[in-house]
Amino acid sequence: MPSYDDQNIFARILRGEIPNDTVVETEHTLVFRDIRPQAPVHVLVIPKGAYVSFDDFAANASEAELVDFMRTAAKVSKDLGVSLDGGEGFRAIANTGPHGVQEVPHFHLHILGGHVMGPMLA
Ligand code: 5GP
Repeated sequence: MPSYDDQNIFARILRGEIPNDTVVETEHTLVFRDIRPQAPVHVLVIPKGAYVSFDDFAANASEAELVDFMRTAAKVSKDLGVSLDGGEGFRAIANTGPHGVQEVPHFHLHILGGHVMGPMLA
């Protein structure tokens, strides 16, 4: 597992060094709008803890962090009108590492919704 780079852009957002368009913040999780949205709804769900990637988070986060992350992602999807609970669904993506073309080395889940998605590209 690569070591965590505390100068990555999301670490700087978490420290308040860079502004962001926050949608919701909980004890362990922050949700903010992507700066280059690729759908009518495009938010990033990130843990506040220092995790490089999906696999790092899944393996090393506490149960409280994991539950808070998943419940917050689900709640924000509902609140933004894209969950199946009142909406038409969404796509959740965690780009991971070089082959996943992960740009920012702090784990994040993209939630994209508000229109029908194109096919997944491999
Ligand atoms: P990745 O390719 O790592 O999965 O996606 C990183 C995402 O972070 C991209 O969709 C990009 O637009 C977004 N991003 C990069 N820098 C910033 C920033 O400074 N603020 C916000 N809100 N999003 C950013």
